Amino acid sequence: MKNDYILIVGGAGYIGSHVAKESQKKGYRPIIYDNLVYGHKELVKWGDFVLGDLADIEQLRSVFKRFPIRAVMHFSAYAYVGESVENPAKYYLNNVANTIYLLNVMREFGVKYFIFSSTCATYGYPAAIPITEKHVREPVNPYGRSKLMVEWILSDFSVAYDLKYVSLRYFNAAGADPDTEIGEWHEPETHLIPLVLDVAIGKRDHIKIFGTDYNTADGTCIRDYIHVTDLASAHMLALEYLFKGGKSDVFNLGNGEGFSVKEVIKTAAKVTGKKIKAIEWNRRPGDPDVLIGDCAKAKNILEWEQQYNDLSTIIRTAWQWHKQLRQSP
Ligand code: UDP
Repeated sequence: MKNDYILIVGGAGYIGSHVAKESQKKGYRPIIYDNLVYGHKELVKWGDFVLGDLADIEQLRSVFKRFPIRAVMHFSAYAYVGESVENPAKYYLNNVANTIYLLNVMREFGVKYFIFSSTCATYGYPAAIPITEKHVREPVNPYGRSKLMVEWILSDFSVAYDLKYVSLRYFNAAGADPDTEIGEWHEPETHLIPLVLDVAIGKRDHIKIFGTDYNTADGTCIRDYIHVTDLASAHMLALEYLFKGGKSDVFNLGNGEGFSVKEVIKTAAKVTGKKIKAIEWNRRPGDPDVLIGDCAKAKNILEWEQQYNDLSTIIRTAWQWHKQLRQSP
């Protein structure tokens, strides 16, 4: 029902904030719960905001007491692969243990709808491209494993406690709100597109291309960049699918098309009109040659349609936001 309260945990982050906007647009009432460790208060523009950590169960309970929450969407996870290898405890505590606290508080308050932010990192190295949801799941780092563990937990909770959930396995989220109200803002930034835009804006001297000897046409890695607003619309469809009685399930969310690192840099130069200095560098450990998702299942079952799937549009919206972000005081 419209006007329902939706709790968006991690709603002050990149993807969560776009989902908050989309949920308000659809007539829901977003409640943002975020500890602002990686999130930004400036990205909270829709709904109520509660500062809190998932490990703070009393604070979490107070939100469920205050608002008649109908569903929870969970974006609050650490997502730096390298850090997860160096400090797995941090990842398993936050991404796994804290999610169990959240699910338990939901049970206490009788809330049964849950949308989980999962990742293509749950697949590990691809055995076949494009990757379907049936692909074997063999994550190769603690980050990917932490997300897969939550998927298993959700599956068990759905059997034992009648939880209704959808796990959405994202490929590379990219771009920004076409109205430039919110966008990507990570500190530290490690993602290709914002780093390339930092070069375009003069904040960085160059971009390093991590590996030019991959088994791809131009030798650089191919990834599936999916516009964040398209991701957000898929979350709303997943929620409504559950509200209408859809069964708990897992869906890939990607563009369906792949772009190489060199293509991204070339398109960014074209979109921004700036010269982008690129330096060929060593491979980054753990990067597969190609990652492209098969998203037919989301299209068929959720009736998801992408609006912003071409790379120029993705980079143009990111650039509009990036200029605003970097030029604001
Ligand atoms: N990449 C790169 N230089 C950078 C950052 C990333 O060449 O400074 C490459 C990276 O090796 C990968 C692609 O860009 O092939 C996308 O990386 P990103 O970190 O944005 O996302 P990931 O695929 O790791 O989630």
